[in-house]
This record gives sequence, structure tokens and C-alpha cells, in this order.
Amino acid sequence: INILAIESSCDETSASIVANGKVLNNIVATQKVHEKYGGVIPELASRAHQQNIVPVVDQALKEAGMDKKDLNAVAFTRGPGLLGALLVGTSFAKAFALGMNIPLIEVNHMQAHILAHFIEGKTPSFPFLCLTVSGGHTQIVLVKSHLEMEVIGKTLDDAVGEAFDKTAKLLGLPYPGGPLVDKYAQQGNPNAYSFPMAEIKGYDYSFSGIKTAILYFLREQKKANENFIEENMNDICASIQHTFIAMLLQKLKKAANKHKIRHIAIAGGVSANSGLRASLQELAKKHSWEVYIPDFQYCTDNAGMIAMAAHFKYLAGDFTSQTVSPMPRMSF
Ligand code: ATP
Ligand code: MG
Ligand code: FE
Repeated sequence: INILAIESSCDETSASIVANGKVLNNIVATQKVHEKYGGVIPELASRAHQQNIVPVVDQALKEAGMDKKDLNAVAFTRGPGLLGALLVGTSFAKAFALGMNIPLIEVNHMQAHILAHFIEGKTPSFPFLCLTVSGGHTQIVLVKSHLEMEVIGKTLDDAVGEAFDKTAKLLGLPYPGGPLVDKYAQQGNPNAYSFPMAEIKGYDYSFSGIKTAILYFLREQKKANENFIEENMNDICASIQHTFIAMLLQKLKKAANKHKIRHIAIAGGVSANSGLRASLQELAKKHSWEVYIPDFQYCTDNAGMIAMAAHFKYLAGDFTSQTVSPMPRMSF
């Protein structure tokens, strides 16, 4: 069974082919146009998806040594994401399915981030907890099976990826700043500065307060030394990152204890963060957790994870009708 999968929820246009559960490739075109605006501009994202979608699909087929006629189904990200961006992938997949007379499979992008763990390497056993940390979401998910998942904790305001990007902007770093904060943090002292952690009930998170605290902190420091940021970039980044990670892992630990689960995974763009990966490994040793950390290419947005999810949906006979439309706020 060969399935073509398309991802177009935000600012990467991606195509992948999965053959009998094995992801053969993962072609990603990252849109550069947004950099100079310091964030994703939805209208520009849609246009770039229009330009990129045929080339990425062609390349995926070519690399797999396949022809369109070899495909048994086509899958796409239905949501969550930007409406105009999702429309490009959705319309492409619908037209492709109709033209080739093959079934259509819709995929939830957040579920796919988690199912990236089944692409390669050791796979988690059920039930496991997944900390999904990305540009738009921060969730603790109880994963009961490939397609049965429950969000038990989430952010009440900003996502942690957004918090990384917004604080990076305050530091004068280009978009997306998350990877750069990570890079500087590796050379810095995580205890140089301290920031207040939000006290939120249960397994929920809040990242908007700390963002404001950082803004005021930088303002004060700059009054005394206008080069404060430039001179202390490494320590500032290390301290901010340290605080974000402590917040994330505190709730994850609490959820693991309460649910008595020791199989723990991370997913989403922020799971590429080297500090988070290292801290999770440490916790794993301390609590004898089995931890699952995805390969870098499957952390940020990619069609490989959509293909993996589509494989499980195909096996479950879960197909979508031609009347489907995107769902920007899709949940599960
Ligand atoms: P969602 O999946 O919620 O719809 P998204 O698709 O935009 O949002 P992803 O592509 O999964 O999000 O992740 C992008 C986010 O990951 C950005 O906020 C980016 O800064 C962050 N990110 C990527 N690498 C790192 C890193 N090494 N350290 C910190 N943050 C990172
Ligand atoms: Mg992106
Ligand atoms: Fe994503």
C-alpha cells in the first residue's frame, strides 16, 4: 500500500510517501518569505504553498521511484493551522484523489506530530505520555493507541514555541528565533538570571506572563547598560531556556506520577531543543522512564509524520469524503 501525504498547515510545504508503513522520503520546502516580517504572513504562506506543492510532490514520487498510478491513497493535513495554507493542501489532495480515483485520508496535524515516533527507531508502547511542544501548541497528551489520544494539559495562552520566538524577537534575533536561543544557550549559564514561573493548576501551562517579565527585565537592564543584550546574549538565552524547560518538565513529571506512566515522549518543533532533550534524558535516568525523542527532521513540520498517521488511518479504514474542508482549529 503506497500513500502520498501532503503537509501545508503553516510555512512548510511538504510531501512524503509511505509504503506498507515505511516512510520512504520526506521532502520539505521551508518558506523564506516570512523571515523579514518576523513571523508567518498567512497570505504569503498560501501563495508559497501554491508554488511549492507540485514540485515537492513530484520530487517525492521521483525519489520513491514511483508513478502517480502506483499510489493507493492520498492524505493531507486538515488542521489545525492557517486556513489559507490548509486550503492549498486540502484542495490539491481532493483533486488528486478524484483524478486518480483513490481514497482520501484527512490527518490531524497535532496527532501526526505524535505519530512521528512510529517512523523509525524505537517506538513507544501504549499508553504513553507525549509532551507536544510547537509553534502553536503546548500539550500533554495521553496516547492510548495510534489513533486514540486525550489532551490532559495545555497552555492557557501562548505556546512555548511562540514564547521562544517572541523572546528571541525582544533580543533582536531573526524569526524563527527558537533555534537561535537554543544555539546561544549552549554557551551560557542557565542560572545567570532568574524569571518567575507561572503557577497554574493541574497540567496546564501559561507562557504569556514570563514573556512580559523578560520584556521588563531587559528594559531595566538596558537602562544601566545599553549593550546589555549583546554582551550577555549567551547567559540571557540560557536562563530563559532553562526557565521554559523547567516549566514544561514540572507538569510532565506531575502527569507521569499521577497516571503512573513511565513511557514518555516529546514531539513538535520545540522538541528539537537541545536543552529540553538533555533535561528529559536526565529525568529519565532519575525516574527510570523510557523516553522517546524524535529525529530532528520529524520534530518541525514535515509530511513524513502525516504519511505515518495516514498509514494507521488506512489500516483502520478511516477515509474522508470529497466534501471535506479544512479545519483551522481542529482538535482531537
Ligand atoms: P503547530 O504544530 O502547533 O501547528 P507549527 O507547526 O508552527 O505549530 P512546528 O513547526 O512544529 O510548529 O514548530 C515550530 C516552532 O518550533 C517554532 O516556534 C520554533 O522556534 C520552534 N523551534 C524549532 N527548533 C527549536 C529549538 N531548537 N529550540 C527551541 N525552539 C525551537
Ligand atoms: Mg514552520
Ligand atoms: Fe507543527
